Parts: sequence; structure tokens; C-alpha cells
Amino acid sequence: MSLEVFVLGTSGMQPLPNRFLTSAAVRREGEIFLFDCGEGTQVSLKMLNLHWKRISRIFISHMHADHVTGLPGLLMLSSQVDRTEPLYIYGPAKLKEYIDANRKLLDMYINYEIRFVQTEPGVVYENKDLTVEAVPLLHTKPCFGYVLTEKDRPGEFSVENAKALNIPMGPMWGRLQKGETVTLENGTSITPNQVLGNPRRGVRFSFITDTMYLSSIANHVKNSDLLVCEGMFDNSLTQDAFEKKHMTSSQAAMIARDAGVKKLALIHYSPRYADKELKVLKEEASEIFENTILTKDRMVFEINNSD
Ligand SMILES: [Zn+2]
Ligand SMILES: [Zn+2]
Repeated sequence: MSLEVFVLGTSGMQPLPNRFLTSAAVRREGEIFLFDCGEGTQVSLKMLNLHWKRISRIFISHMHADHVTGLPGLLMLSSQVDRTEPLYIYGPAKLKEYIDANRKLLDMYINYEIRFVQTEPGVVYENKDLTVEAVPLLHTKPCFGYVLTEKDRPGEFSVENAKALNIPMGPMWGRLQKGETVTLENGTSITPNQVLGNPRRGVRFSFITDTMYLSSIANHVKNSDLLVCEGMFDNSLTQDAFEKKHMTSSQAAMIARDAGVKKLALIHYSPRYADKELKVLKEEASEIFENTILTKDRMVFEINNSD
């Protein structure tokens, strides 16, 4: 399958004219998952023509303003569209309090159900096609990264092979497609690999912010097709990053390298860098991990398992 990843905001701490606060969206078969919701998120959604109604689940990393201030406005968009499906919101415990207080104090009219799920390390959501796993990070308050992994699917069924092997069309085809071995009337056993192509690998997307560098992150995001990761500072501020529990772009690149990801997309830039100064983050990261992208707001990535 393929995923589209939309970077909705790239700034850390404060929004700037060309940089909204941190947020990314993943679209898969028309359904949208949102990761963090900084100020400006709904503007980027609108500019990219991503429909609010399509957002089924929102995953929040932690309770710092630059990651959640876009949420009340987004939740209020509901008054403009009908929505019958509940909205699931995942995050640290305090997130529920924040949403409830906003609803109460701002008299928010919300005409659908919000289901809050407290994030704990491990799989927080699973359906037949994918899982979303929460990764424990180390920041100034409880914080989680998220890894979305599509499940592998069996290879394509070859009708040609099935006919050549004289397998009668019907239930046996279905059983082979499910990975079972079948026995023909003449006693011949047919294994699934005789009629199925190579398994189709699911793709993986990881979203990591805010955290100090931890070597354990690489294990969680292993083999991601796309790692969207905080790269807040340049190398001259490594000590600062450590004290504030953030990462340099070089540290993000170390994770990308150690995890064997395909592509690293940097986000959550410090507002200290003017737009034209951001390139130092990419230059330093690229020395460690070549396929590093300096994201801009509303950049779109397409991930296919055929890559
Ligand atoms: Zn932040
Ligand atoms: Zn933070």
C-alpha cells in the first residue's frame, strides 16, 4: 500500500511567518491520522485540501503548547461539518484534562464523540492493516514518539500457476491465499508459495519529537521508510540540546543511520534560525545520514512499498 505524509508545521517553540508549529498528517486509503497539532495546523490542512472529517485519530506526543495549541480550533471545525464517527485522541493523561477544560471554558460546540486513549509505551492502536506503536522518549515531561507500521500482506495469487497445477477453482484457492497448504484429490500437496508471489511488505512511518538523544529510539524506528524527526539545533548547541532535552540534527541523523531508515525528514526547528540559516541543520545531518531532507511546511512525501 502507499502512504502520503504531509508535514503541516515545522517550527518548534513558536510559530514563524513561514513555519507553523509541529504537526504531520498521514493519509492512507482516504483516512487521515494526525500526529501533534501545533498552532496553524488547521491552516495547513486547509491549504493542502485535507478534510477535517477524514481525520479519524490524533496522536499527541506531549503536553507542551507548541504541540497542542492547534487542537481546540481543530476540534471546533466540527460545527461546520457533520461527523458521525467518533474521533480518537491518544496522548499523555493531561491531554484529556486540557481538552475537557477547553470544551468547558470556550463553550465549544462539538457534535460528535471524542474518545480519549491514554498513551502507554507499546501498541496503542491496531487494525487489520496496521499498528501504531508509542515510543517512550525522554523530554522535560512525559513524551512519546509514534511508529505506524503496515502489516505485510501475502503475495498476489497467480491464477495461471493455479490452473497449471490443476487446482480446482473454489475453496482451495481461498485457502492457499490464506497461507494454507491444500491436498488435491489425487493426493498431491500444494503449498502457498507455489501459487503466491512474494509477500508485499508494509511500509513504516515514524514521528519522533521532542526528546534528548537516546540510542534506544533507533530500535523502535528500525527500517522506517520515512522518519520524521526533531533536529532542533546545530552541533555548536549540543550541550544546550542536552540540557533542554532536545536533539541536534546530527543526533537525528545518528538515529536514522542506526535504524537503517530510507529517508530522514527534519522538523521542529529552533526559532533562532532564520529560514536561510536552516541549511546548517541539513548539512551537519547529511554528513552522518545522506538522505536527509530539510522539510518545509506543507511538504508532501509519498511512501510506496515498491521502493
Ligand atoms: Zn516542542
Ligand atoms: Zn516539548
